[in-house]
Amino acid sequence: MPQNPVLPLVGADTTVPLTVPREGATSIAYANLDYAASAPALSAVADAVDRALPLYASVHRGAGYLSQVSTALYEQSRIAVGRFTGARDEDVVVITRNTTDSLNLLGGCVPGRVLVLDIEHHANLLPWQRHGADVLAARGTVAETLDALSEALAGAEYALVAVTGASNVTGEALPIAEVVQVSHGAGARVVVDAAQLAPHRPFSLAATGADYVAISGHKLYAPYGAGALVGRRDWLDAGTPYLAGGGAVTNVTAEETTWEPAPQRHEAGSPNVIGAIALGVACTQLEAVTAELAAHDTALRDRLVTGLEAIDGVAVLRLWPDSADPTAVVSFSLPGHDAGLVAAYLSAEHGVGVRDGRFCAHPLLAARELDAGLRASIGLGSTAEHVDRLVAGVAQYLSTGP
Ligand code: PLP
Repeated sequence: MPQNPVLPLVGADTTVPLTVPREGATSIAYANLDYAASAPALSAVADAVDRALPLYASVHRGAGYLSQVSTALYEQSRIAVGRFTGARDEDVVVITRNTTDSLNLLGGCVPGRVLVLDIEHHANLLPWQRHGADVLAARGTVAETLDALSEALAGAEYALVAVTGASNVTGEALPIAEVVQVSHGAGARVVVDAAQLAPHRPFSLAATGADYVAISGHKLYAPYGAGALVGRRDWLDAGTPYLAGGGAVTNVTAEETTWEPAPQRHEAGSPNVIGAIALGVACTQLEAVTAELAAHDTALRDRLVTGLEAIDGVAVLRLWPDSADPTAVVSFSLPGHDAGLVAAYLSAEHGVGVRDGRFCAHPLLAARELDAGLRASIGLGSTAEHVDRLVAGVAQYLSTGP
């Protein structure tokens, strides 16, 4: 398997120190298996940022040439994000800070009750909890969970169903088009948290019929600070402006304010122009290679799951036995062993970076009676050697201890 089959990344050759030398070496090529947390920047994104830095100036309100260039680049990014998420002509793209920001923003616009599953990342749970959402347990099979969803929707009037496009713990998901069908049938809209899906698989609002989608640039190979909420205009035009301030208003008197429609309504203050440019370029780059991305992701996920499941004493976490096409985010535990110690060992003695803990999904882990787990997640720079090194490290930990 080639090192990077699709798009070059910055920092791909990073080496890290080994606390315990291996075969005389005190450092090793970093095996980054924590892409689900944040992904390194694409080289094309870094180049675009370098080109934009000398040029940026205040967007939208400046008459000068650099303001015009910056405004054009910022608005081009909005278009690129819309294309990447399969936005319909009438949809709005709001540039936000990240998925958390996007879902909180939508939370201020929902005109009714919200239904959410208990497997969600806190970003797609806490904004709804604040609104008094009902939380549905996701158990059994995909079909059983869809039935439970259908039943819950029939029992009350919901405005919105909030669902993940891919779990940040297991990479699994419900089939979004079916969630949309069931929800729309009951008069509820659907928002998809695509923070983990979008880096691995194409997602389209138009194709799935979903109403809103949220993404984060830093999981899409752009640096931190920019994300997006994309979807239907009416709620976003009517909702409470996310932030009160300049750029979001048409007129202000000492007594009252007339707000702009979306997206400006929700983008008060000077925006993150460079972040938006990075996000737009990342979307355009990824959009061109979706098939290769998915193939690389699936091949390495299969290799990782097969390797881990072959080790006695390793339990791979699954949400549903029948979920289709999971992405390469794999959580596992070593019952009887402290996840933090295992993660520290993998880093110190094998140069492998994984995540340990509860993955901002406390209800999910609690429902499976896990205090903490380990998570390996794959991205563009991941290789078969990285996966094999992790699997060998876990096996070695169990056979010899740290
Ligand atoms: N949703 C999912 C599924 C995630 O995995 C994450 C981050 O890990 C988020 C939302 C929150 O993303 P951000 O921190 O970029 O807002």
